Amino acid sequence: MKFRITQIEDYEPLVGAETIERIRRKSNPLRGLRVVNINSTLYGGGVAEVLSSLTLLMNSLGIRAGWRVIQGTPDFFTITKKMHNALQGGEIQLSDMKKRIYEEVIFENSVRSHLEDHDVVIVHDPQPIPMIDHYPKRKGPWIWRCHIDLSAPHKETWEYLLPFVERYDAVIFSSKEYAQKINTPQLFFMPAINPFNIKNKELRKDEIDERLAHYQIPGDLPLVVQISRFDRWKDPQGVIEAFKLAKKEVDCRLVLLGNFATDDPEGAEIYESLMRSREDRILVLPCGDDTALVNSLQRRAAVVLQNSIREGFGLTVAEAMWKGTPVIGGNVGGIRYQIEDGVNGFLVSSIEEAAERIVRLVKDQSLRKRMGQKARQKVREGFLLTRYLEQYLDLFNSFETVFRLKDYPGARLGA
Ligand code: UDP
Repeated sequence: MKFRITQIEDYEPLVGAETIERIRRKSNPLRGLRVVNINSTLYGGGVAEVLSSLTLLMNSLGIRAGWRVIQGTPDFFTITKKMHNALQGGEIQLSDMKKRIYEEVIFENSVRSHLEDHDVVIVHDPQPIPMIDHYPKRKGPWIWRCHIDLSAPHKETWEYLLPFVERYDAVIFSSKEYAQKINTPQLFFMPAINPFNIKNKELRKDEIDERLAHYQIPGDLPLVVQISRFDRWKDPQGVIEAFKLAKKEVDCRLVLLGNFATDDPEGAEIYESLMRSREDRILVLPCGDDTALVNSLQRRAAVVLQNSIREGFGLTVAEAMWKGTPVIGGNVGGIRYQIEDGVNGFLVSSIEEAAERIVRLVKDQSLRKRMGQKARQKVREGFLLTRYLEQYLDLFNSFETVFRLKDYPGARLGA
């Protein structure tokens, strides 16, 4: 069998020849650059989703981009998930014992990671953040790429992580709202989607029918869909309540599709609580690792919801919008940069608002079509992977202005 990864020119019909030419020009001086990304899960969640595509696209341009996943025990991931919750505004008791387990697992990962020879190290999210402590001799800059909603972090948790953060040469947040008072250069890049992978590529009607039939999802009623890790920040219970209100006015069916990430041990509990809400018109499906099913549901849905309470960016929003499906999103974090309220979708702040928008969209096919077209356009203009890639290229090419290069005498960076 012959395999081929997506090449930059594949994007030309979507973003135009000029953009492709500019990306080529910017990537030329970076050929051979050794970049490594480190995160805490191979699948489940937006970070892994983007890394799997972005690292390949960088390689197609001659950048030696790699991806490592840290290993951790269940108690390590219980602690890091609590820290994640706290950084998004939740509560936590971060005892010395928990800090010790956390830092020890990271130390062990550092011992077996051998990151000394990389020109650039990009550490994603809080889990691997203390690794920097174990590489006192760094060849080039280390960047902390934080994907979560840091608009109101739990004070003590942030203060605990701050000394690690400030050892990095730069921090990338998904939006300016997450900027912090730190002595480190801060950059703002929003994530983006790969329009060619199985999750986002065009599907034929019969392919969609086949996937939905495989999971016994009936096609008799309009579908209202939320696709998310089983996570309280995605407020699936609120979706159920909004759906129940909407159902009084319009005939439809709710599908809550979810998956579990290895770095999120709270998923099973949330899933079980949702299973108790199942009924004739409410399907709760745990088979969200089937990416063709995700694609099919995002295409077939009358309405997609992303009812998050906190959301660093919310790739699921861009994914559905790309498919021309209007999204009702929580009026928080990164969702607000994707949905223009009343134009290409709706932003909502309560269950009643969500219910009212569901009713409106399910009833009005021409509204769905109009919003869906604008939604696709929005993603084409701002949330395809080429835009994200170009921001990284610009960063790699402008190290002198962003970093203190005197710290890395032998660094091999942009031209
Ligand atoms: N996802 C999936 N199956 C699921 C739930 C989510 O494939 O059942 C994917 C989703 O399509 C998206 C990513 O996981 O690509 C979630 O990213 P997002 O930024 O929306 O949220 P995160 O999980 O990172 O908080």
